[in-house]
Amino acid sequence: MMRLPKFTYLTPRTIADAVQIIGDTGPEAQFVAGGTDLYPNMKRRQQTPKTVISVMRVPELNRIEGDGQTGLRIGASVLLSEICEHPVIKRDYPVIAAAARTISTPILRNMGTIGGNLLLDTRCNYYDQNYEWRKAINFCLKKDGDVCWVAPGSSKCWAVQSSDLVPVMVAIGARLRLASTLGERIIDAAGFYNDDGIDYLKKRPEELLVDVHLPPTNGWRASYQKLRRRGAFDFPVLGVAAYIRYDRGKDPVADAKVVLGGIAPAPLVVREAAQELIGQPFNDDRIQAAAEACYVKARPLDNTDFVMNWRKQMARQYTLMALAALRA
Ligand SMILES: Cc1cc2nc3c(=O)[nH]c(=O)nc-3n(C[C@H](O)[C@H](O)[C@H](O)COP(=O)(O)OP(=O)(O)OC[C@H]3O[C@@H](n4cnc5c(N)ncnc54)[C@H](O)[C@@H]3O)c2cc1C
Ligand code: SF4
Repeated sequence: MMRLPKFTYLTPRTIADAVQIIGDTGPEAQFVAGGTDLYPNMKRRQQTPKTVISVMRVPELNRIEGDGQTGLRIGASVLLSEICEHPVIKRDYPVIAAAARTISTPILRNMGTIGGNLLLDTRCNYYDQNYEWRKAINFCLKKDGDVCWVAPGSSKCWAVQSSDLVPVMVAIGARLRLASTLGERIIDAAGFYNDDGIDYLKKRPEELLVDVHLPPTNGWRASYQKLRRRGAFDFPVLGVAAYIRYDRGKDPVADAKVVLGGIAPAPLVVREAAQELIGQPFNDDRIQAAAEACYVKARPLDNTDFVMNWRKQMARQYTLMALAALRA
């Protein structure tokens, strides 16, 4: 049985206290929300904070405010199960509810939060193993070792961004609010993820994710398609988020984005796919051309489930599905 290491557990009730505690405690401390990612990682000794600071009892982090007209603010500690069922999210941002519904299982969605999902650790077959397994291969670059077993000549870790909500947030232009003892800053989801499996976030370790801001829904729609082995629950090994702004029946397309998740350390914005759509009629030919662009740009590595060449081909298929859903 894998056991948690010993740690001190703190439960601040305000943002000011939360950021003060982590500021005082330093790099040995880490925030936790639902713990569905952090605690398994601690059991596998991938992350070993001596102090764990819960963000679940800070009221401001548990609120949902606004709607599709004004834009929506979702606190970082809001549970995934609440996101799936929230009437305003279902009505005005159905893509968020739909993507959240594909995450893990109902029990885990009752623990896991939107903030934890957007900050999820990157994943790799050589890393998501227990300590003894990783020790047997002399560990790897991401933790305790000095070789990447996926690309042994590489000085970079290729562990994969595996959150279902991340590509959707990038596609719709969400923004993230961070707080620390130095103050607050807001950063676009599109600029928040690094293409590096170790240093995968622009967030500094002592920064608290306060909330996620969704833009008003003035004429855009978005969809999400997820490839995974088990339909009941599994991490995405490819996720395609498609965003489009156009007046139905009134071509051309005013704006478009296609974002691929689950194939690289950061979500991949396929600009070539958008170029095939923007300023054009939204028809089968253009959708096919955009899907082809995603096939060309997708370069999955052999470090998650399924054969990588097949996953590359699925980038075309899942883009077709994601864009077709927006024509319906
Ligand atoms: C069996 C299983 C299946 C899963 N399937 C999926 C899946 O299909 N798709 C998917 O996307 N995910 C999946 N997950 C991962 C995880 O359950 C979800 O991503 C969940 O949303 C994580 O949220 P959490 O609150 O539990 O995060 P936590 O584990 O609490 O935290 C995750 C990370 O975020 C940091 N953190 C959390 N909140 C804050 C904050 N407010 N400010 C700063 N840092 C913070 C923590 O320090 C930690 O580094 C799965 C997990 C398991 C165990
Ligand atoms: S991509 Fe390489 S360095 Fe990164 S977790 Fe996998 S094996 Fe380790």
